[in-house]
Order: sequence, then C-alpha cells, then structure tokens
Amino acid sequence: MRKIGVIGAGQMGAGIAQVAAQAGYDVLLRDVDLARAEAGKSGIEKRLKRAVDGGKLDAQDAQNALARITPLAQLDPFASCDLVIEAATEREEIKRAIFGDVSKLLGESAILASNTSSIPITRLAQASGDPARFIGVHFFNPVPVMGLIEVIRGLATAPETVAAVEAFARSLGKEVVHAFDAPGFIVNRILLPMLNEAIFALGEGVANVRDIDTAVRLGLNHPMGPLTLADFVGLDTCLEICKVLYSTTGDPKFRPAPLLVKYVEAGWLGRKTGKGFYDYSGEDPVPTR
Ligand code: NAD
Repeated sequence: MRKIGVIGAGQMGAGIAQVAAQAGYDVLLRDVDLARAEAGKSGIEKRLKRAVDGGKLDAQDAQNALARITPLAQLDPFASCDLVIEAATEREEIKRAIFGDVSKLLGESAILASNTSSIPITRLAQASGDPARFIGVHFFNPVPVMGLIEVIRGLATAPETVAAVEAFARSLGKEVVHAFDAPGFIVNRILLPMLNEAIFALGEGVANVRDIDTAVRLGLNHPMGPLTLADFVGLDTCLEICKVLYSTTGDPKFRPAPLLVKYVEAGWLGRKTGKGFYDYSGEDPVPTR
C-alpha cells in the first residue's frame, strides 16, 4: 500500500490523515468542500508544529508528512488509492452515498474501509460494490495519541482484506484487535452505556457535572470523567451511536438519555463546538450544569 484516501476531514479524518502521512503514505483528504478539507490540514499542521516545538518530532519529518497530504473536494483522484477510509459524519445515509460514489472509481484490488463507531459493517458493505473488499477500521480519538485500532470484518469481508488492513494498521504503530460485526464492536459497546448512564445521572439530578466526572475519575481510576469524554467524542456522535445500538439490538439499555438529545438539539456538541457539558470558551473548561 502506498496511497491512502481519507473521506471526512473532521477530528477523526484529519487524525487518520496525519498518522498515515507520518508513516510515509501519500494521503488524499476530502471533505464536502475544499475549505473544510483545508481546515483539516491546517489542524494537522498545528499539531505537528506543537510536536516539533515540544521536541517530540523532527522539523523535517513534520514538513515531509505535511507535504504528503493533499486536501481536496473532488472524488475522481481517489481512483489511484490503494485504501480509502471513510471518516465522515456518523449517519448511515451519508456513508452509503460516499461508498456508492467512491466504489465506482476504485481499482480492482483497492480496499474500502469505514471508521464508523457503530453502524454494522455488513450492512454498509452492501453500498460498497464489493463486500469482500469492505471492512471496518475503527480508530480512537485523538488518533495520533491513541494506540488502538479495532479491525471489524463484515460477513463477506475476505481474509486478504483483513490481512492487508491489519498490516496497514500496524505500520502506523498501532495495536490491533479484531472484532466481529456486532453493534458497537468491542469498545463502544462497553463505553457508550457508561457515558449515556452518566448523562442520565446528570439529567436526573443525582450530581452535577464536576462531581460525576470526579467520582468516576478518582473512584474508578479513569483518566477522565465520562462527561469530559462525551464532550471529547462529540455529543452528536454519542447520540448516533446510542441510536444505532438501540435500533440494532432492541435492547432498552441503549436508549439515549433525554438530556443527550437536548444538548445535541441545542447544538452543544462538546469540544468541537466550544460547548457541551463544559464551556470551552475560556482558559479552562467550565461545567455547564
Ligand atoms: P466530525 O464531525 O469531526 O467530522 C465529520 C466530517 O465529515 C465533517 O468535517 C463533515 O463535513 C464531513 N462530511 C460529512 N459528509 C461528508 C461527505 N459526504 N463527504 C466528505 N466529508 C463529509 O466527526 P468525527 O468525530 O471526525 O467522526 C467521523 C467518523 O468517525 C464518524 O463515523 C464517527 O462515528 C467515527 N469515530 C468518531 C470517534 C470520536 O471519538 N469522535 C472515534 C472513532 C470513530
């Protein structure tokens, strides 16, 4: 593999583009328009600069990585990619439309992957042209920091596709775990009920934001509290994952907390919009409840 395409230049897509470029791959980074794709690349530039300033990265390596990333709005250039990773908004109709368009362009051995947090891979594969060359590759946020990738095979994913994607994931310096195509895979199946429950507890007045986060951080020895983490993931993404877990299993334990729905309806999506369970406009995050 030499050339990687990333579709969606938000927090995850930009992170994936960054680690792939740092590992030596040429990367095409696409979003709905050029401005957003370029914003994704600017974010990468800032992160690389911080790493250089902090003495963690060689300046020339940072420059080389940045030069390997091409932001664009068109899809046609993706025809030359060996692997295309979709990291667009967590909505099935958006992802299906992307797979329909990109699969028409790809070469015969190219692989199409989704970074979806929760949508079944087998179902998405139906929109991909060739389910044998379709796979889930689930990165964690922030991608340059987190050491894990879940590789998820759909019912029809070929063993060669799994092997190629595992080799790619390891070439980024990540640990790989394999999951079968079940709702939430491994990590989100365990994580989302916890985040959602913390939001129920907040909505029911059990405790305020600070105390819920402090309780889990110090009482369970987690590195950050669940409301901080939900803000970090993005509350829209959390809600979409809960909805998928709920609709695919029918299990009421996954029903989204009403307060989560309310925050998303208010446009309070967490860090990426500057406000969620915390307000990020000042120097330090301030709880909103
Ligand atoms: P985000 O909102 O930061 O970014 C999504 C990007 O997709 C936006 O820039 C949006 O403009 C773009 N987009 C929407 N439609 C598009 C299209 N048709 N073509 C190209 N780009 C399009 O969201 P994110 O947090 O980066 O999440 C992206 C995906 O990664 C989702 O599937 C999410 O579930 C998954 N994911 C998220 C996390 C997390 O912690 N946030 C972790 C693992 C996986």
